[in-house]
Amino acid sequence: MLTKLVYTGIVCGCIIVCSGCTISSPEQPASAMANCHDFSRKPDNINLDKLSNADQAMVESVLGSLEPIIQKRRQQQTLAWIQFEDLYAPLDENQRIFLKAFATINPYQLNIDMPYQPIQNFPPDLVKIESQTLLSANGQPYITQTQFLPKNVYISYINMTNAMQQDIGKTLYIASGYRSPAYQLYLFLFYLKNHEYSILETRRFVAWPGFSEHGNPLRQAIDFVNEQGIDGQENAAEFEALEEYRWLLEHAGRFGFELSYPKGGKMAFEPWHWRYQGQ
Ligand SMILES: [Zn+2]
Repeated sequence: MLTKLVYTGIVCGCIIVCSGCTISSPEQPASAMANCHDFSRKPDNINLDKLSNADQAMVESVLGSLEPIIQKRRQQQTLAWIQFEDLYAPLDENQRIFLKAFATINPYQLNIDMPYQPIQNFPPDLVKIESQTLLSANGQPYITQTQFLPKNVYISYINMTNAMQQDIGKTLYIASGYRSPAYQLYLFLFYLKNHEYSILETRRFVAWPGFSEHGNPLRQAIDFVNEQGIDGQENAAEFEALEEYRWLLEHAGRFGFELSYPKGGKMAFEPWHWRYQGQ
């Protein structure tokens, strides 16, 4: 009976080796290894503070295997709604086992302050938002990445920005709309290396899948950006200072939008991030 799995990734070409296992070299017959090794991986032996070296290597190997599909979807501008089956398809068995364990880490162990957004079915009526044109620092127009919103949210967004245009002669564009929970999982894996492979640290900056309002069509979030490309991501005060933001504070509620993370709340202030509550 195996009580503990040691994840070495190097010993015998397979990924998981049971502790105390005497079979630890590639010379051992495969049948003996099959008896000894348990290929299932449990989420609770992933170190949340810092991934083991083998798990770090596994994350990079998963990202490497995902790269072609990610590139393809990026070119097609459909990356934002990639599905879990698309992520699992290019992976080998060990990668799949790891990703499954990773994706099923109990979020309550991550001390997430944000409310859980029950993972909804893929919204059938996503509107594709193309050709949003912003101005670069030297005044040159450029087209932003295609974004997606559920239809009802898109209609309210259009009504709201029409009213804003009438009131103050300005508008806001969509920097980020719908992002599937699978895309969120990919983003989380991708950004781990920026936070020394600490899941607990990364989750302060990247929402855990199922905890992002961008992935919940029933409380759909939009990150706004103004025509000059000011999105607040580098400096929230820059977005906060916008006339467009002040207009939102006063009028967005009328169109069903609410500021998700106001100043002085439990979460970091995000003046650009508004969710659709419905009217
Ligand atoms: Zn957001």
